[in-house]
Amino acid sequence: MLKTDVLIIGAGASGCAIARELSKYQLDVMVADKNEDVGGDASKSNSAIIHTGYDASPGTLESQLVVAANPMYDKLSEDLEIPFERVGAILPAITDEQFEKLPSIKEKAFKNRVYDVEYKTAEQLLKMEPNLNPEVKGGLYIPRESIIDPFLLVVALAENAQENGVSFLLSTKVTGLKIEGDRIAGAETTAGPIEAKYVINAAGLYCDEIAHMAGKDDYYVNPRKGQFYILDKNTSCKVEHIVLPIPTKLTKGKLMCPTIHGNMLVGPTAEDLTDKVDKSTTREGLDSIETDVRKLIPKVNLRDSITQYCGLRPNRNPEGLHVDTYDDVKNYVNLSGIRSTGLTGSVALGKYVAQTLIDIGMKAPFKTNFIEKRKNIPCFHKLSRNDQNLLIKQNPLYGKVICRCETITEGEIVEAIHRPIPARSVDAVKRRLRAGMGRCQGGFCGPRVIDILARELNIPVTEVNKNNKGSYMIAGKVR
Ligand SMILES: Cc1cc2nc3c(=O)[nH]c(=O)nc-3n(C[C@H](O)[C@H](O)[C@H](O)COP(=O)(O)OP(=O)(O)OC[C@H]3O[C@@H](n4cnc5c(N)ncnc54)[C@H](O)[C@@H]3O)c2cc1C
Repeated sequence: MLKTDVLIIGAGASGCAIARELSKYQLDVMVADKNEDVGGDASKSNSAIIHTGYDASPGTLESQLVVAANPMYDKLSEDLEIPFERVGAILPAITDEQFEKLPSIKEKAFKNRVYDVEYKTAEQLLKMEPNLNPEVKGGLYIPRESIIDPFLLVVALAENAQENGVSFLLSTKVTGLKIEGDRIAGAETTAGPIEAKYVINAAGLYCDEIAHMAGKDDYYVNPRKGQFYILDKNTSCKVEHIVLPIPTKLTKGKLMCPTIHGNMLVGPTAEDLTDKVDKSTTREGLDSIETDVRKLIPKVNLRDSITQYCGLRPNRNPEGLHVDTYDDVKNYVNLSGIRSTGLTGSVALGKYVAQTLIDIGMKAPFKTNFIEKRKNIPCFHKLSRNDQNLLIKQNPLYGKVICRCETITEGEIVEAIHRPIPARSVDAVKRRLRAGMGRCQGGFCGPRVIDILARELNIPVTEVNKNNKGSYMIAGKVR
């Protein structure tokens, strides 16, 4: 039977950030996830913004985590080689009513200790963002709102955690928790039982189901769907900042911003559902994005959309971000309500959960040999001509471009497949490298990526998965 000091359920941003933090201590740590890859569910379908927490509810744990996390990203992104940029956000007031709300938003930012929010005049905003609605009355500038590659953030946290000794059990669903007296003795999983001294529930949308296994039924999760458009890099109407609407009680609203790789992101919606697997985009949802975002950026060209996607926020009822411990289940930490700022907050959450475990009695001597840096796969198209030639000399596969939209080489794909946390599916390759994320959305490179996966994993092409087990893309030969 597998044994560990700490079992983390879920390899999304939360689980992987906790794993990395715990890998700084002399502990055996295991992360189990039902998916075939690290990266989570919500963690791979969000707005990819590293928030400042200016608009969080003051005094809440969510505000505390987001405000603490934001400044950590400069060093973290350097240490783990994650694309990250402090582009800043603007919050334009288009109507007089919105203009009147600005002081209360600034006051809230102040209460959250986000002191660097500044008023901007209409003239200043139009200079910063020429495509902004010319009727803008003025607004706020939030300089530390930033953008990141959300896929690489989670992969990098996981890879670094693994290099520091954490084990990842993928395609491993937790199906039950074994309770003995006032403790959890371990978990039943699809890969067999795991004995654990401490168990952390970081299961996102499904955290209520894991909580139920631990005998806790004080909340439930309902998904809040967010739909998005991704626009081509060459779209006619772009923005350089995160352009945010004045938030409402329900949502931060629909925004437009650049992605870290130069596309434009437009959305999301906020639709309450009961179905945890409904990841469809809908005409109504997409139309509502168009209507709302045009109020901010009238010339946004949604015809330049290269894809649409949807993410499900794990919305907690009753609301609020919780990190709970219990007197009657002493070695269990339950995370819930990690909803719309969880990507940002993850790195502070990792530290918070590590301290929580120590507070409930976990012995955790510090490691002296923690490796804090991680090397990313060389990004061929960003290298100088000289370095590209050197790389091709070392490995000729770097001279073979597979994804022409994003200029991704066979060398990069092969390296991703053989990393310690391997990319074993078409989507896993795509999330690490962007092969298939460009204008043709994998139309050209898709079959070639399947061939490379089949060759490197030594399996027939018919067994290459899109993502999870059984999601085959090729049925057989047609000629
Ligand atoms: C539309 C949208 C926009 C957002 N925008 C932003 C943003 O701009 N900035 C920001 O900071 N945050 C944003 N968020 C929020 C952020 O994405 C989430 O809060 C965060 O990703 C949650 O991470 P997680 O690891 O807790 O959950 P998840 O990423 O959902 O991971 C949970 C993991 O648990 C696993 N799991 C579940 N059940 C089991 C089981 N029984 N056994 C094993 N594994 C299991 C799942 O497979 C999954 O991998 C947004 C979210 C959405 C949906």
